[in-house]
Amino acid sequence: MVPNILRLLIVSFFTLQTLTYETKEGSYKKVSSYSNQFYGSSATTNNYIFHEKENIPALYYKKNFKNYKPFYNQKKASSYVNNDFYFRDEDDESNSIESEEKKFSYDENDDGPAIYGPSNWYKINKQCNGNYQSPIAIDIFNTSGIKFSPRLYFEGIDIRPSSMKIENNGHSMKITFNLPNNQHIRIIGGPLENIPYILDSFHWHWGAIDKSGSEHVLRGRRYSSELHLVFYNSQYGNFNTASTSSKGLAVLGILYDVDSQQNGYINPWATIIHRVLNAKSTYVEYQNNFTLRDLIRTDQFKYFTYKGSLTTPNCTENVTWLINSKPIPIAPAELREFRKLRNEKGEQMFHNFRPLQYSKYDRKVLIYAQ
Ligand SMILES: [Zn+2]
Repeated sequence: MVPNILRLLIVSFFTLQTLTYETKEGSYKKVSSYSNQFYGSSATTNNYIFHEKENIPALYYKKNFKNYKPFYNQKKASSYVNNDFYFRDEDDESNSIESEEKKFSYDENDDGPAIYGPSNWYKINKQCNGNYQSPIAIDIFNTSGIKFSPRLYFEGIDIRPSSMKIENNGHSMKITFNLPNNQHIRIIGGPLENIPYILDSFHWHWGAIDKSGSEHVLRGRRYSSELHLVFYNSQYGNFNTASTSSKGLAVLGILYDVDSQQNGYINPWATIIHRVLNAKSTYVEYQNNFTLRDLIRTDQFKYFTYKGSLTTPNCTENVTWLINSKPIPIAPAELREFRKLRNEKGEQMFHNFRPLQYSKYDRKVLIYAQ
């Protein structure tokens, strides 16, 4: 029996071709054979939108395949984002912040369906193939200076958490502060337009060797590690709503450069990594809690800022990035601690940074000197 959707399309499209597209997940009916272009709506098709990139069909129909069911349900409005079409589906799990069904890794050999490497992340969420993806290389010659008023500032940088939840989420070590008396740590000003953004959690990216590991490349260099402090727009009230909404997130990226001396400084988180060596393990620390200032050392720093995305699926393009321009030191032993963590396959996490993302659009990177 021909599914209804195919019938509808056969009626609607004069140029329709029905091809079978074989993947490890099974065979899909490819319902169009368009090349690398975007196709808009038409009256006869009830505003269906097709999107295809690099000759890989982005919309298919497959019975019982949850993540690709947008053709026929009109309450799931399509949207136009950054000159790119996406099908948005309110009920579709692929638009939630973390897809439970599809796992991602940093290994390009993982081409699904159990787990997807970076060039296949778009199969988890199409936004991963968008035009405002992160990370990027920040070339100092392509930046323009700007003076934001008011300047970027922190609230609560010295509040000591009453406890800290430490998680190995299979991709990184993630820490969430539990602050006393329902307080929040907030970042305000700068490019954030006077809207307070509230700290949700933070995590790190690192590499197999000490000279590589940051996600953003600065002045042609990939640094040793990058800390991501994820803040959400307070206007949305909670992280989950903000994470899928416009201007929902701000991520402060702190770059680290390996330095065996470190001027005597020890990163306060290094001694707790061993608590969560296995993927999906969690530990709550009550004794050795540190403040945001202990973590980033200063709130007076020069930074680069641009509009981009989360660097893990679902790659949501609603992130104001703030990247410190002067990396802070990290010891080789601290980097070795990171590499002791294990991913969901039980392998050591040697490399958890996303490849650089390029866009056909001009991306403005601004620098601000505090
Ligand atoms: Zn990150």
